[in-house]
Amino acid sequence: MAAMKVFWLITLLVVAEEAMAGVFWETKDKATERLQIIPPSEETAKKMELFLFERPSFRLVKRSIKRPEDVLFIIDSSKSVPEANFTRGIRALQNLVTKFRPNTKFAAILFSTKAKVMFKFVSPQKAVKNLAGIRYHSGFTNTQAALRKAGRLFASKKSGARGYASKRIFILSDGQSNIKKQNTLYLAYLLKDMGVEVFVMAVGQRIEGINELAMVATSTDKHLYRVGQMEEFIKVVNEIPNDPSYDKFNSRR
Ligand SMILES: [Mg+2]
Repeated sequence: MAAMKVFWLITLLVVAEEAMAGVFWETKDKATERLQIIPPSEETAKKMELFLFERPSFRLVKRSIKRPEDVLFIIDSSKSVPEANFTRGIRALQNLVTKFRPNTKFAAILFSTKAKVMFKFVSPQKAVKNLAGIRYHSGFTNTQAALRKAGRLFASKKSGARGYASKRIFILSDGQSNIKKQNTLYLAYLLKDMGVEVFVMAVGQRIEGINELAMVATSTDKHLYRVGQMEEFIKVVNEIPNDPSYDKFNSRR
């Protein structure tokens, strides 16, 4: 009798395990496939307007008074990103700066085999100038080193980060980390735990490490953006209207 019970128990466990494995694999594949989909650029621009820039979709809604923002760009310079595309990415980021409110401060970290702070939190005008000075530095994809430096930069009193500002990271990358990658998600989690919102622009038709990028982002529906190539990122940024105060500033001149 006891032997029979054990037999049934084992059978049940095997069946259940197989059934569950089937369900999990299917779900995971479908989720990954969904992340590979590249929406039209207008759709991505709208999504960024809503969630990265928090502009209301309805024009008559008055903008609520918001805390200023400290925005950190984390730029992938690994060899999987060709230099020409890297340069296009920098140009798109320069344009992105003018879409934020003028009281935003920007910093940048560049990473490939190592991560390096390119500039600490500065005004939009300085950020545009400093971005132009960033040079391509090919190597491996050490995302975790960049995330580690990001945490230090936000916590530092000497980085120009403002304690009262809301903290945001914008990662520009084409995929999977390949140095100490076991740390990548953990360090992203630590940043989120510090109150940092992590946005990701994932570049590439099919991205090997799309799951990692999706998990680094604070959410997939609001914080993860997809483009097929760097030209498309440029296009998306061009479709986002400038911050209204920039237009006012320009028309006064
Ligand atoms: Mg890479």
